[in-house]
Amino acid sequence: MFSKGSLHIATVAGIPVKLHWTFALLVGLVTYTSFSSGYGWLGSLYFGLFILTLFFCVVLHELGHALAARYYNVPTQDIILSPIGGVARLKHLPEKAFHELIIAIAGPMVNVIIAFVLFGVLWFKQQSPLEISGDGFEAFMSFYNFMPLIFFMNIFLVAFNMIPAFPMDGGRVLRALLAMRLGKLKATLIATRIGQLLAIGFVGLGIYMGHLVLPFIGVFIFLVAGSEYKSVRFQESIRGRRVLDIYRDQYSLLFEYAPVRQAIDRMNRSMERDFLVTNQLGHVSGVLREEAIKEAIRQNDTDAVIAGYKSQNYEAIDVSYPLEYIIQLFQKKDYSILPVYQNGEFVGVIDRHSFGSIM
Ligand SMILES: [Zn+2]
Repeated sequence: MFSKGSLHIATVAGIPVKLHWTFALLVGLVTYTSFSSGYGWLGSLYFGLFILTLFFCVVLHELGHALAARYYNVPTQDIILSPIGGVARLKHLPEKAFHELIIAIAGPMVNVIIAFVLFGVLWFKQQSPLEISGDGFEAFMSFYNFMPLIFFMNIFLVAFNMIPAFPMDGGRVLRALLAMRLGKLKATLIATRIGQLLAIGFVGLGIYMGHLVLPFIGVFIFLVAGSEYKSVRFQESIRGRRVLDIYRDQYSLLFEYAPVRQAIDRMNRSMERDFLVTNQLGHVSGVLREEAIKEAIRQNDTDAVIAGYKSQNYEAIDVSYPLEYIIQLFQKKDYSILPVYQNGEFVGVIDRHSFGSIM
């Protein structure tokens, strides 16, 4: 149930919906606010119901992104809910700018639809959405206010998400529009800088207003925008490149019946961290990972033969393979080092540190 700090609560349309552990803070805040306002458990219940409905709208918003992404063959890994909102984690970015535009807009569109439906129901009930009785927290204590409040929260979700602060939805829309003219890299750079500027504004405004959540969101946007730009820059830099461009023809081969000590020796004298292991015939028979070497050091077992520490987690790759594919392969299969072949002949290695050199 718990994986990497989040709790799997449901699966909708094949997409896991998870609660981030910090969500517990929200439950605490709801209870605290209710009690400090003098409404006790009943207040918690009312306020909790409101927050729950609000997050239900957030899940629908994220499903809007996820289903639009699915339409363009981009799978969604999961939807994670945290106190500051939800995020649909797409497995990769859509290639076409127009697809990103539609995926980014699909989330807020869901809230527009919810707001329209609520407006229709309120109109039918002859209740004005502007009619909210009570001040501050008191407003949440009346069931009469429930629908108008949810209506306003959906309008707020649309307005807030459409602020062009990349990586928020509005920022993604901006990036997609810019990318149609300027290309993805330049568009991302401009959208990132605008996003970071607005993020600094959020922090400033939050501190000025004595608001806790806004500076937090600001810092979050600032950091995520920066890392997403780096990832796009990385993607662009490997586009069209192949194993041939980055494989190493300088490497050590370790005999499987040599002691682990030999690997430590090589580590100290070179930049090599992971090694290919060979058998008596000189053929590659496994890999010795940095983690395994460290384990041998911890166990005081460096005189043991490498065969006892080697792993079979590797496969042969060809110089013609595209780097995009190889990077995915390393991530998916947790490879450390792979032998590289050209026309069936062993010519060198590629390891998990090889990609850093591209930057
Ligand atoms: Zn969104």
